[in-house]
Amino acid sequence: MTKRRIDIITAQEPPTCPRCLAEGLLLARVPYGWANASGDPVDGQTGVVLCAACDAQAPHAAPLITWFHVNGNVENETSEEFVRLLVAWAENASVPPLDEGRLDEEISLWRSGSL
Ligand SMILES: [Zn+2]
Repeated sequence: MTKRRIDIITAQEPPTCPRCLAEGLLLARVPYGWANASGDPVDGQTGVVLCAACDAQAPHAAPLITWFHVNGNVENETSEEFVRLLVAWAENASVPPLDEGRLDEEISLWRSGSL
């Protein structure tokens, strides 16, 4: 099993949540990997914003959001608890790599009258 690398992007300004356009708590660069149309694996990285509002209901995001509420910032980002929460969140942060496939699926469902 390959270790996935998660980078926290730190900047002067807080990240902007792409969903609600409010200030996000954290911007992380997480790896993704899936197969393209030819079945070849595609590896890359994508930025994911942790947002206190949008991710409040996400099971793996909630503990990390709570961590931010308690600790305020990531100055002590090497703390074991923080890293554990970060990894759990990043591993489950839904990077939707299969949007295209899902769309096709929805179109065919729609055509077959199941949608
Ligand atoms: Zn948001």
